[in-house]
Amino acid sequence: MPATHEVTNQVPPLTGYDVAAYPALLEGLRREGAGWAEADLHALGTLAGGEQAQEWGRLVEKYPPALRTHDRFGHRVDEVDFHPHWHDLMTVAVENGLHAAPWRDQRPGAHVARAAKMFVWGQTDPGHLCPISMTYAAVPALRVEPTLAADFEPQLTASVYDYGLREPSGKRGLIAGMSMTEKQGGSDVRANTTRATPNSDGTYTIVGHKWFTSAPMSDLFLTLAQAPGGLTCFLLPRVLPDGTRNALRLQRLKDKLGNRSNASSEIEYDDAVGRRVGEEGRGVPTIIQMVNLTRLDCAVGSASGMRQGVAQAVHHATHRDAFGARLIEQPLMVNVLADLAIEAEAATVVGMRLAGAVDRAIAGDEQEAMVRRVGLAVTKYWVCKRAPAHAAETLECLGGNGYVEESGLPRLYREAPLPSIWEGSGNVAALDSLRAMAKQPESVEAFFAEVDLAAGTDARLDNEVARVRKELSHFDDIQYRARRIVESMALVLQGSLLVRHGNPAVADAFCASRLDSDWGVAFGTLPTGIDTTTIIERAKPRGGDFDA
Ligand SMILES: Cc1cc2nc3c(=O)[nH]c(=O)nc-3n(C[C@H](O)[C@H](O)[C@H](O)COP(=O)(O)OP(=O)(O)OC[C@H]3O[C@@H](n4cnc5c(N)ncnc54)[C@H](O)[C@@H]3O)c2cc1C
Repeated sequence: MPATHEVTNQVPPLTGYDVAAYPALLEGLRREGAGWAEADLHALGTLAGGEQAQEWGRLVEKYPPALRTHDRFGHRVDEVDFHPHWHDLMTVAVENGLHAAPWRDQRPGAHVARAAKMFVWGQTDPGHLCPISMTYAAVPALRVEPTLAADFEPQLTASVYDYGLREPSGKRGLIAGMSMTEKQGGSDVRANTTRATPNSDGTYTIVGHKWFTSAPMSDLFLTLAQAPGGLTCFLLPRVLPDGTRNALRLQRLKDKLGNRSNASSEIEYDDAVGRRVGEEGRGVPTIIQMVNLTRLDCAVGSASGMRQGVAQAVHHATHRDAFGARLIEQPLMVNVLADLAIEAEAATVVGMRLAGAVDRAIAGDEQEAMVRRVGLAVTKYWVCKRAPAHAAETLECLGGNGYVEESGLPRLYREAPLPSIWEGSGNVAALDSLRAMAKQPESVEAFFAEVDLAAGTDARLDNEVARVRKELSHFDDIQYRARRIVESMALVLQGSLLVRHGNPAVADAFCASRLDSDWGVAFGTLPTGIDTTTIIERAKPRGGDFDA
């Protein structure tokens, strides 16, 4: 049959490149003390940018997990069936220590190296990083109870992915989940109604439900329930020491907007058995240790999504012509791409800085602990909040092709709102930032001490810092103003980091737009006089087959 037409002006696929070859990420990695991980990061980045891993990501999203409540004879099994490539993705993540390496490897920068790997590997499929992140975060919470840590930490931190419904002590590696949200409330966990009744052997009987429990095939769950002494954290294994299934009944899997590779379930506890983690009544402070780490992953995950979108958008514009020129040469597209690239760089720089703060705070640095507390709260709010608008704009850079599933951009777009909902939805994250500052006023000074390291370098930053300080100087309508304050704090932190450490072109453009208000509401509204060439050059994906 004769060909009806030739295919022209379609871009080559963005595969076969090194996802880690991103200047903002690598500079942050070195600056925050994890330069030693660079070779490993490039190896993971090359795997992530390869055709095989990209295909794994596509397939696990297209064929989401399915719940199997009963076996053929009518016995409850509460199993979830996954696409086989889900396990491939999990295997790579665990073997690269994304779930726990910093708890084994005490080297300075270990949390930074891990965060950078999350950034890189998340660009295959963010869904499977949910259980990976929860496993990472479970370890410090478990350490509250040394006997539990002794029982489970070795396998939680082992670099073996050992999937299957078996008794935890017989497994070479374990995965952990977290169950807090109930039907009547997620943000307000104190409204939890699940009950925990003490047994004579020291365990508790758990009766109640959870409305969201992701990764329900995990081996262990940190769960909140009301004990006689108040809201308490418990550890529930899926399989009990005698080999029987713990009574965690999976009722349904959520039919979600995105994050479809990951199973998120509704659970009923029908006389399930739990072991207490921490004292009765101390459930929130115990589990909050976990939440502090998963919040870092939310911010880093959003930054990673932005980077992925920018890489796709710049790649497309480099190879696509319209009206007689490459898109990347069209002045208005240059403005859009540069603006998107600045947002992704700012998110990456602050993500790496906060991973460094986590690293040093865990090693006992109190100043860094305060920077982490406030810096992470405001950044979690702002970076996650920017992701959906950013994803929509990167998608549009591909025109109609961007709206089609095969491009991968719809997946990015559907995922983008999720980190902002997790671990404190927008308002709750903003209010949490205020709470952190009110509870520990010295943390406000620690935060501004960090920001002020750039004082005197750029007047636009100095002016904005002065304005934010003024906003914080009175408490009238403070909750009503919370988003505005927290957004401004996040911006001055990003601005300070970029002015000190960033590429000068990116720092200048950031200050001109985000801090000096010479900017519109949509992306692509940068003022003139910006060095867009440098900004876009830094944003290009590197090392791929398409470079040839
Ligand atoms: C895909 C997915 C997976 C999840 N996995 C898990 C999991 O594994 N484990 C788990 O425990 N949970 C999980 N969750 C639940 C998630 O953590 C909660 O949805 C989230 O914490 C918000 O709680 P909520 O849905 O009850 O909303 P609500 O608490 O009802 O909040 C609704 C809205 O009100 C706002 N709000 C709340 N309080 C205030 C206030 N005082 N002032 C102003 N505004 C306020 C919130 O910001 C939000 O916008 C998951 C959710 C999703 C979508």
